[in-house]
Amino acid sequence: MKKNISSKQLLAWFDCHKKQYPWGENKLPYTVWISEIMLQQTVATSVVPYFKQWITDYPDIQALASCEPEEVLRHWEGLGYYSRCRNLHKAAKAIMERFNGILPDSYSPLISLPGIGDYTARAILSIAYGKPYAVLDANVRRIVQRFTATMEWDKDLDKETLTELEKIIPHHRPGDFNEAMMQLGQLVCTTGSPRCGICPIGAECLGYKTGLAEMIPQKQKKRINREHKTALLFFSNCKILLRQKKKGLFHDLWLIPTTEKNNLEKIRAIDGEWTGINSISLTERNHFYTDNQDILTPLLITTDQIDLSDMTPEDNELYRYQWVAIEDLNNLPSPSVYRKILNEAKGYL
Ligand code: SF4
Repeated sequence: MKKNISSKQLLAWFDCHKKQYPWGENKLPYTVWISEIMLQQTVATSVVPYFKQWITDYPDIQALASCEPEEVLRHWEGLGYYSRCRNLHKAAKAIMERFNGILPDSYSPLISLPGIGDYTARAILSIAYGKPYAVLDANVRRIVQRFTATMEWDKDLDKETLTELEKIIPHHRPGDFNEAMMQLGQLVCTTGSPRCGICPIGAECLGYKTGLAEMIPQKQKKRINREHKTALLFFSNCKILLRQKKKGLFHDLWLIPTTEKNNLEKIRAIDGEWTGINSISLTERNHFYTDNQDILTPLLITTDQIDLSDMTPEDNELYRYQWVAIEDLNNLPSPSVYRKILNEAKGYL
């Protein structure tokens, strides 16, 4: 950076304008770790209720490590990016086994833990342990890119930026400096229109001075893979057919079997072939994940003369199928869109 960000101005702004979040109250290593993982890919306001509930249910590493993975996933339901949760649980177990239940206070052991990468290790070390590590998340990157009026960004600049930030990070308040940068990105140097007029570092900002700030970073068109699917809720003998993902995205979560929408007519033909089969169309739902959008048309298929629960599809490489009693549905983790469909279906049963 040709001109440096003024840590003094930034911290003065932070002291007056910082947003208070529950994870900012005591800054214990455990709470910093949990909040940093929850905040990845998720806005702070959505994280607040999850964080509060999590700390109530799992107040420390030992409590988290001693739970079953499915129970922990159920607590995470709705936050998305479920691998974060699986890794938290695995890391808690590893901390109990390898570090006597204490989250390490140095870089190498921290990043050896599942789900803790460079960013999270730096955040924990600076915020919880007061060590002068800078962090670079999307907010910080956007501020620096605008501050230096850099139109194109690449990975090498990430490294360079961290080195530059570590030259100016105040050793007496490294965590506050990092949090101030993140909050500046959330509240002032925002993704849409930066509020340069009230920015504490605006006087030295090249993006502001040159009028380029609003054009940085350049918008990239995201390609969304859209698919229409029918979610088939087979209900028979007080049970619903679900399948548990064995690996990959949604690993361990319970999903409603889906089929391509084109297959729907074949399924509807069952109506004609088997007496006692009824189908009810439920509310269409959108399921967004990474760069995908599944447009789900749920169909509840009930039977009063045939026991479908004798017919369980064979497990395959990806899925394990199981008929689940209605009263057990709430114990199984599912993506929130599937939970909404299940809850709607229950209203008809
Ligand atoms: S002056 Fe504007 S562009 Fe520069 S850091 Fe502040 S808000 Fe961002």
